Amino acid sequence: MNEDLIAPCGMNCGLCIAFQFKELDLNKKGFQKKYCLGCIPRGEHCVHMASTCEMIGGGKLRLCFECSSYPCRRLKALDKRYSSKYHMSMIENLDYIQANGMERFLKNEEAKWKCPNCGGKICCHNGLCLNCDIDVLVGNRKYRWDENRRE
Ligand SMILES: [Zn+2]
Repeated sequence: MNEDLIAPCGMNCGLCIAFQFKELDLNKKGFQKKYCLGCIPRGEHCVHMASTCEMIGGGKLRLCFECSSYPCRRLKALDKRYSSKYHMSMIENLDYIQANGMERFLKNEEAKWKCPNCGGKICCHNGLCLNCDIDVLVGNRKYRWDENRRE
């Protein structure tokens, strides 16, 4: 995984469905999803925070923890949504990076989200490996994390 894929809000863009769809060119399976290169690579700072935060929108910070308001109300709300729906916490990610550095964070992320089958990345938005389990999504386009499916 690549440092540029860690958005200012702590999102790992590599796990995002729009990134993985682009990476694997999955619209050829009959989808019409937006493709995204990741918040930093596409030069928009952060899809979650840029429109509501001047520091992020203006590109004044690389990561939210550099801000004196960290963690602000908006980041906490985003974190809450992602923690409950998508099994990842922006604030946990950012705290980890701040304490242990980006390199260790990326290494952990790679292990944490690795597909046991193909070694690809699990998508945080649905809990699927889009290499191995794309048929699940073809069958049910709204498929989201199923607690019974993994572990
Ligand atoms: Zn896989």
